[in-house]
Amino acid sequence: MEEFDFIRSIKPDYYRQSSVIKGIGDDAAIIRYPYQDIITTVDTMVENVHFSAKTTEPFHIGYRALAANISDIAAMGGQPTAYLVSIVIPDHWQLEAVQSIYQGMNQLARTFQMDLIGGDTVSGEQLSLSITVLGLVSADKVRYRSTAQPGDLVFVTGTLGDSACGLHILLNESLEDHSRYQYFISRHQKPVPRVDFIQACQAIGRMSLNDISDGIASEANEIAETSQVQIELDYHRIPTHKKLADFSEEQQKDWSLSGGEDFELIGTIAEQEVDKLQQAAVSTQTKLSIIGRVTSADQDNYGVWLRERQAVRKLDPTGYTHLRR
Ligand code: ADP
Ligand code: MG
Repeated sequence: MEEFDFIRSIKPDYYRQSSVIKGIGDDAAIIRYPYQDIITTVDTMVENVHFSAKTTEPFHIGYRALAANISDIAAMGGQPTAYLVSIVIPDHWQLEAVQSIYQGMNQLARTFQMDLIGGDTVSGEQLSLSITVLGLVSADKVRYRSTAQPGDLVFVTGTLGDSACGLHILLNESLEDHSRYQYFISRHQKPVPRVDFIQACQAIGRMSLNDISDGIASEANEIAETSQVQIELDYHRIPTHKKLADFSEEQQKDWSLSGGEDFELIGTIAEQEVDKLQQAAVSTQTKLSIIGRVTSADQDNYGVWLRERQAVRKLDPTGYTHLRR
C-alpha cells in the first residue's frame, strides 16, 4: 500500500469546523479557538488486545475507537471538534479495509461536526489505532470527577450492560438469536457518546462526571475516591434494557455493574438541580435514571455501597460485592 495514496484517500474534501486553519497536508495542523478551553485526550486500541478483527469489522473498529475518545471529552463536559489518527498498518491489511476504519470514524465524526485534521501512518506487525481528540469547554462548565458532595443525587444516562451483552452474543449465540438481540449488537458496535446531553446541561452549576468505559462499579468508585465521599447505589434502580431479562441473574448483574463500553455517563449533582437535569434529558431524548446518593465519609472510608433488597454491600471497582459494615 502506498502511504501517499492512502493519505490522499482519507483526506477530507472540506472541513466542517471554521476553526481548522490547516488540516491534513503540511507538517502539522493549525486550529484556532479564541474563547474556550481546549480539552484533549488520546486512546490506543491494539488488535487482539482491545478488539479482534475476527469479531469486529474494520468499520466498527474505527467507529468504536473514536466513540471511546469522544466519550472522554463528553465526560469532561466538552464538545468534540477535531481528531488525529496514528495508525500502524500490518502488510496483510488491504487498503479497502483500512479505509473502512476511517469510514467508521467519519460516520460518528459527522454526527458531531468533527474534522479529521491529521495523523501518522506507519507499518508494523499488528494493527494499532491511536486517536487524539480535541474538544472545547467553557472554563466554568468543566465536569471533574472530584467534585461530588454529600447530599448529591447520583444519575446515569441510558441503559447499562448493553455493550457487554452485545459482545457476548457476537461471541456465543447461534445465528437466529442475532436478530432478536440486534439492539445489543448495535450498542456494542456503534455506541453514541452522550455529547448532546452534556451540552444541554449548561444551566447546571456543579456536576461530577465520569463516562462508563469500564463499568459503573469502577466509575462510581473513581468519583467516590477522588471526591472523598461515599456513594450509595440502589441496584434495583440501575437501568437495563428489558431484553436483558432474557439472560441469567448473574449475567445481568455482571454486565450492568462491570460491563464496560456502554459510554453512558454517571454523575452527581445537588438535589435542587435535578429539574434542570431532567429538562436536559427530555430535550435530548436521553434516558435518565436517579440511582443513588452521595454521603459523607471518613478518611479511609471512601467508596461505593450497593443496596440490594435489604442488604447493603460494599461494591468494589471490579463489580464484586461483599459485606463490610
Ligand atoms: P510528515 O512527514 O510531515 O509527518 P506525513 O507524510 O506523515 O508527513 O503526513 C502528511 C500529512 O498527512 C500530515 O498532515 C499528516 O497529519 C497527515 N496524515 C498522515 N497519516 C495520517 C493518518 N493515518 N490519518 C490522518 N492523517 C494523516
Ligand atoms: Mg508523519
